[in-house]
Amino acid sequence: MCQVFDDSKIDGRIFAMIIDAHTHLFSPDVIADRARYTQRDSFFDFLYRNPKARIVGAAELIAAMDAAGVAKSIIAGWAWQSNDVCIEQNSWLIEIARQYPDRLLALCTVQPNAGDAAIREFRRCIENGMAGAGELNADGQGFRLDDTGLMNLARAAIELRAPIMLHTNEPVGHNYPGKGQLPLAAIYALVKALPDLRLVLAHWGGGYPFYELMPEVRAASRNIFYDTAASPLLYAPQIFRTVVNIVGADKVLFGSDFPLILYPKRQKEPDMQPFLDEARGVGFSAEERAKILGENAERVFGQSVNQATGQLVN
Ligand SMILES: [Zn+2]
Repeated sequence: MCQVFDDSKIDGRIFAMIIDAHTHLFSPDVIADRARYTQRDSFFDFLYRNPKARIVGAAELIAAMDAAGVAKSIIAGWAWQSNDVCIEQNSWLIEIARQYPDRLLALCTVQPNAGDAAIREFRRCIENGMAGAGELNADGQGFRLDDTGLMNLARAAIELRAPIMLHTNEPVGHNYPGKGQLPLAAIYALVKALPDLRLVLAHWGGGYPFYELMPEVRAASRNIFYDTAASPLLYAPQIFRTVVNIVGADKVLFGSDFPLILYPKRQKEPDMQPFLDEARGVGFSAEERAKILGENAERVFGQSVNQATGQLVN
């Protein structure tokens, strides 16, 4: 059941719903036998061999959404290295999204290095109602943005009208497991080559928004969007206002990185509420808030989805 939100009305007519644009889900197979997958995937092993690293299934995600008044979540699996594991997990994500058509919209994982097989899998996933590809991870999956495999996937994304959500990291600051080395210049080169690619840069784009102050970068980056995943672990809350001042309220998507613990000092269990409270408390206008907390995600992720699953906002 969705709650009624105090910020649900704008101009007395638009009913905004809250969409979490960045969550991670794992199939019952992975939850039941994590070791089987840590053996199959060195990147998964690196981040999840510690049993304290959280993995959750759909029931826990839906319960957290209900508790926080989140209407819909964009669900990603994991950036698997093997095309076979991608296919297996994508098939489960397709099914779970069908079980919760009003609540979940799934992204597929593809391995760009798999070449034509990756393109076939991407196409299968979009044809089965998935909303795009992601969260892809250049370091974890071992690809470069100028590789032929990635470029062909990006061309397929444009043809399919599907976005790609890409993991990014800050090039400076504290280190943490999974902090990658993807250079911002590689992202710029990709969007200059394929400006029609709809690209969601996770984790505030690793600082990329700052360079949208350069006119040529802004022009090339018109189809780049930024999500806020894991923000409290990385940035002060002023990041919300600062980035929106630079790139505008149409390009920022609220995403939590659930079930990541975002406030480890005061939070013990995965919970969407504290970060939503942070986002609501940073001084956005009602219109900005509606865009960032839901409307942008609907626009960015809704285009490739058929009407059966794509009715995100009335
Ligand atoms: Zn990420």
